[in-house]
Amino acid sequence: MDRKISILRTKKPCPICKKQSQQKYHPFCSKRCANIDLNRWLSGAYIIRAPENEEEKEG
Ligand SMILES: [Zn+2]
Repeated sequence: MDRKISILRTKKPCPICKKQSQQKYHPFCSKRCANIDLNRWLSGAYIIRAPENEEEKEG
């Protein structure tokens, strides 16, 4: 029973720098880290969406 409480109380660290995350920038510790993650996500999305393999398109 106590375990649930401890899980809820545990704050996740910033996924970028592992510092304690701030509620304002959740789940990151700062706007800087949030932007870093956003840029990573965007660059990854660009790679996936790059229309280089249009020839393989089926339908
Ligand atoms: Zn951070």
